[in-house]
Amino acid sequence: MNRPKQPIMVTKPFLPQKEIFMKYVDEIWERDWLTNQGPLHHRLEDALKHYLQVENLTLTVNGHLALEIAIRGLGLTGEVITTPFTFASTIHSIAICGLKPVFCDIKPDDLTMDEEQIEKLITEKTSAIMPVHVYGHPCNTERIAQIAQRHGLKVIYDAAHTFGVRKDGKVLAQQGDVSIYSFHATKLFHTIEGGALVYQDSALKQVFDDYKNFGIHDEEHVAYVGGNAKMNEFQAAMGLCNLSHIEELVSQRREITLRYREHLEGVPGLRLFYPDKEPGIAYNYAYMPILIDREAFGLSRDELHAVLKKKDNIVARKYFYPIGTEYDCYRELKDKSRVHVAEAAGRDVLALPIYNGLSLEEVDYICECILAQHR
Ligand SMILES: *Cc1c(COP(=O)(O)O)cnc(C)c1O
Repeated sequence: MNRPKQPIMVTKPFLPQKEIFMKYVDEIWERDWLTNQGPLHHRLEDALKHYLQVENLTLTVNGHLALEIAIRGLGLTGEVITTPFTFASTIHSIAICGLKPVFCDIKPDDLTMDEEQIEKLITEKTSAIMPVHVYGHPCNTERIAQIAQRHGLKVIYDAAHTFGVRKDGKVLAQQGDVSIYSFHATKLFHTIEGGALVYQDSALKQVFDDYKNFGIHDEEHVAYVGGNAKMNEFQAAMGLCNLSHIEELVSQRREITLRYREHLEGVPGLRLFYPDKEPGIAYNYAYMPILIDREAFGLSRDELHAVLKKKDNIVARKYFYPIGTEYDCYRELKDKSRVHVAEAAGRDVLALPIYNGLSLEEVDYICECILAQHR
């Protein structure tokens, strides 16, 4: 394959058949019901509960507000222990609710929160732990549950990357008090923008439903200081269309991942991840991160990223970089944080293109371009 005319992007949203989406749109027109817990909203909620095999699920307008609602709904205060190796949303959800994010380092093997570093970060102000199943790599949920229980803390998982990831047959989002999904257009399963909370305690259903609708409980009672996080009917329609494709989306991404591995595994200076080889894990192949060791590969991550973009028209992504401790807005938290593994990962990680519709020939081309830089 020659250099493509259009850049190969790191991701591309999946679109279902327009005709099927339009059938739902016709229904919306007939009913004149656009948002506020409409029939499609209910259907998607039920379909997701069935597909994920979970009892408690609340849809939201996006994943970020699901995090905020989880924090408010659980009544968290003070400090929340999280990871700097995540998307800005995780950390901001804590700070924007008036709480203090406390950064815990990650583990080099899977880049999830290092559970052995959590306890020394706990103070009398800590109310919760917010780990991230980054790239869909499962956190050590057993150990984190033990620590939380011993110290009386809540656990909220940012499970934005884990749609469909299962451990011993159960979706990862069943771990912790609450887990959140993102259904953003770039995620494996999407509703254009969207998200959901999954939780253990069914009493939280009413609380979360109230929070996503300005804290309004019923016609005469406003229970909480809440914002607006309601999913509308058009989003729910997109979700219903996309959910019917989920198995094929995962299996196409699996093919892409295996092709990348054929080319890239064993190359000095490149590290790949194999979450699907962990016992009991059914993985979703949502992302294709690699770590680049500058010494062994011959080029740094930044150099490789720049060459791919300029010379080969491939737009990979430094995902996640910068890490949370390096944001301007959290500068005052940086000095107190010991997050050396996360700093190294932020420096070395590159997310390679993976999306439904990326051809295996394109994967071959991307790998040839990467290997051409190896010295
Ligand atoms: C996408 C994402 C979010 C935010 O979700 P939105 O639906 O875009 O609001 C939160 N955390 C992580 C790790 C994400 O990747």
